[in-house]
Amino acid sequence: MCDIERMFHQFHVKAEDQDYLRFLWWENGDLEAQPSIYRMKVHLFGAASSPGCANYGLKHLAAEGRGHFSEDTIKFIHRNFYVDDGLSSVASKGQAIQLVKEARELCRTGKLRLHKFISNSKEVLAAIPKEECAEAAKDLDMALGELHMERALGVQWCVASDEFQFRVVVKENPLTRRGVLSTVASVYDPLGFVAPFILVGKQILQQMCRDKLSWDDALPDDLRPLWEFWLQDLQNLAGVKIKRCYIPSSFEVQRYELHHFSDASVSGYGECSYLRAVSASNEVHCSLVMGKSRVAPTKVTTIPRLELSAAVVAVRTSDMLKKELEVDCLREFFWTDSKVVLGYINNEARRFHVYVANRVEHIKQSTESAQWMYVASGENPADHASRGLTAEQLVASNWFTGPDLLWQKELPSGVVKVGEIASSDPELKKAQVHDTQAKEVRSLLDRLHKFSDWSRMVKAIARLKRWARETKGLKPRSCEATSLEERRDAELTIIKMVQQATLSQEMQCIQRHKETRIKDKANKLHKLGPFLDDQGVLRVGGRLTHAALHPHVKHPAVLPRDSHVSALLVKHYHERVHHQGRGMTMNALRSSGIWILGCSKAVSSHIYKCTTCRKFRRCTEQQRMADLPEERMETTPPFTYCGIDCFGPFYVKEGRKELKRYGLLLTCMCSRAVHIEMLDDLTTDAFINALRSFIAIRGTVRQIRCDQGTNFVGARREFVQALKEMDQEELKELGCEFIMNIPASSHMGGVWERQIRTIRSVLTSILEQSARQLDCSSLRTFLYEVMAVVNSRPLTTDYLNDASSPEPLTPNHILTMKSTILSPPPGKFVKEDLYLRKRWRRVQLLANNFWARWKKEYLLNLQHRQKWIKDRRNAKVNDVVLLQDDATPRNKWKLAKVIEVYPGKDGRVRRLKLLISDSTLDGKGKRISKPVHLERPIQKTVTLLEAD
Ligand SMILES: [Zn+2]
Repeated sequence: MCDIERMFHQFHVKAEDQDYLRFLWWENGDLEAQPSIYRMKVHLFGAASSPGCANYGLKHLAAEGRGHFSEDTIKFIHRNFYVDDGLSSVASKGQAIQLVKEARELCRTGKLRLHKFISNSKEVLAAIPKEECAEAAKDLDMALGELHMERALGVQWCVASDEFQFRVVVKENPLTRRGVLSTVASVYDPLGFVAPFILVGKQILQQMCRDKLSWDDALPDDLRPLWEFWLQDLQNLAGVKIKRCYIPSSFEVQRYELHHFSDASVSGYGECSYLRAVSASNEVHCSLVMGKSRVAPTKVTTIPRLELSAAVVAVRTSDMLKKELEVDCLREFFWTDSKVVLGYINNEARRFHVYVANRVEHIKQSTESAQWMYVASGENPADHASRGLTAEQLVASNWFTGPDLLWQKELPSGVVKVGEIASSDPELKKAQVHDTQAKEVRSLLDRLHKFSDWSRMVKAIARLKRWARETKGLKPRSCEATSLEERRDAELTIIKMVQQATLSQEMQCIQRHKETRIKDKANKLHKLGPFLDDQGVLRVGGRLTHAALHPHVKHPAVLPRDSHVSALLVKHYHERVHHQGRGMTMNALRSSGIWILGCSKAVSSHIYKCTTCRKFRRCTEQQRMADLPEERMETTPPFTYCGIDCFGPFYVKEGRKELKRYGLLLTCMCSRAVHIEMLDDLTTDAFINALRSFIAIRGTVRQIRCDQGTNFVGARREFVQALKEMDQEELKELGCEFIMNIPASSHMGGVWERQIRTIRSVLTSILEQSARQLDCSSLRTFLYEVMAVVNSRPLTTDYLNDASSPEPLTPNHILTMKSTILSPPPGKFVKEDLYLRKRWRRVQLLANNFWARWKKEYLLNLQHRQKWIKDRRNAKVNDVVLLQDDATPRNKWKLAKVIEVYPGKDGRVRRLKLLISDSTLDGKGKRISKPVHLERPIQKTVTLLEAD
């Protein structure tokens, strides 16, 4: 044992870190004076960093010395120092002397001084300079046998007898929970030599804790005698002596074994480990290495769980001892008196609850199940650790020496039959399995569901019946097609089957009462006067008994509405009459001798779903009208939101030349006013020019919408093309945005489209005839006149016929703020004016014409027409539709599949993306035409097959 002199002070602190170790210093202890500030240049006692830094320094020193000193010395410095205390044990005196010599030299290289040496060997001490030895050792006369006690890491070491002892000084602690804890904790016993004794103290403490006493409450009366007895007993610990050496000095060890015992009781659980040495002459020596005892947790738990916890403690101790003992080829044995625990450890097949599973897993990680053995409870020394002992009992027990079985030359074979874990063991996880068996019963009728065609079903049943007769030997085998007779028979069979499955109650009733009428009025059969014919088929009675009709037509067979067979029959006869309406189909059914209950509904719903009928007759799709767009709701100055369109060409005469001119029509979305500009040609430049003059007259425009038609002719197509090619930047400079509506949805333009249509057609037809009589400027004037006429139309028809109503509001009111309605041009203009030289008269005549026709064709039609007010089913992806094409007859319309839907703000779909493709293949199996993607409004489609 030795010590490093002022270890912390030997290590310098880096200059930049010294500021952290500043302190105030009053010269001569004069607290009145101004203190000076100093910095520590070395590590000081009491700083949290010092032990760490100093230890690192020492280890570094040892690493530096590698190669110059023996491995043993370096290992001694490396492993056997606790801060500044060195402690080691070697086999012989010679080795000790060598170790001390080298260790001192090694430390000297780091300017460290090893001193306060002490040893249980006089020779060793003699080899060390007197001043380096411990104070007591300097003048120790060992021959006198004087007991000298040295503290080694808190445990008393009697140097002379080389034994560990406990010297207990009991401080006067108050009789409270705090005092008890202080006393129990003051017994320093790192290796658990007296663990069974301390357990008793701990149990008293735990009891106080269980009673929920606070720290300074007095000891309750029932615990006081126990505690006082324990305190008294504490003195007896002085009698406990433990040999420092595991084995006697004369013992020649051949092998070492480590034996761990674990046990548990209701009050506690514990573990003890023994080192068993076997000599060459087969002699045995055992000694306690370490003990542990713990109180049982306050939470109530089972004994097997505590036993298992004890086993885990044993395994942890084993892990630690293996590392610290440094014995090669150490065999380990684990003993427990719990067969349940052994069962858990040996188990390979079953699964445990988490508590047990985790602990068994831990045990299996460090040990083999073969290392675990059974010891009878009476022989288990860990029993002391789990129950507790008095000091006296402890000395008398086999706690320090180990059980007798370890002292025997041969270890017991340890083979104790560990049975399988009982399946009732509460720690076993119970797995639950649901075993469900489904049995499918399918009648012949159910099997008929796979048929989608009546005649095929009849043929199959007819063949089946023939086969049945053939196997019974009633008929010779034949491969001919089934005869008409056989099919009739099969039809009846199918009908009977359906009747028996769905109308059996009614049929029984009729059979029993021999009555042709059923009493139950609510019964749907009631009115039919049903009866069973000689073949057992339920038939309609009716009043045609004497008619000269086929009996099946007079008395048709009754079938329920919602059976698969009925559906097939409806389909069959509907196709028979070539997809005629409900009446024809029903008639066909009836005249074939079939009466379906609720036939009319069944037929209607079939026709509604029939794809062929849809192809022929179904209307195009509709959807509830969308809310008006913002630009039509917002109150904005006229011509803030515009629609645009173009018409023409018109031919005008300029001198002898004939020129083409076009009209550009702009409609205000809000006030419904129009503006007409003349276009010189259909180029972007002309359009921009027209737009600029429009903006100059009417003010700035925020948004212009345009309809891009697919089947527009001539001017409009070119116009749209020109608009598309136009540099949007140029428009943006004018401060307006340009939007193209999707093709073929002219209704989306709404108001403006209707006006445009009439204005355009009227203008076109008038100018067609007479434009050649106008020149450019006359045409412009004419267009402006027309504009004025259109703008002075009333916006509503509500008060037109009411004499007392205010003057009707016109777009001109909004545009010009003047109330006068533009009156028809003054004067009387006749057809001949067209050919006069006075150009204005020509214009006025044309304007007059326009006025007349405009009134006739547009104004009188200005009435509210409500349409599309109902909510319809939304189109869905994968719907199959027919695409309306006005240019071709209905039967040539193309099939299309919906591949995308565009719901509006209200969630209703009005726009679709369609995939049109032609399934015709060429010689190589490739499609002739490429699939086409189109966007169309739903109003152009007819749904044939819904996706759901
Ligand atoms: Zn049909």
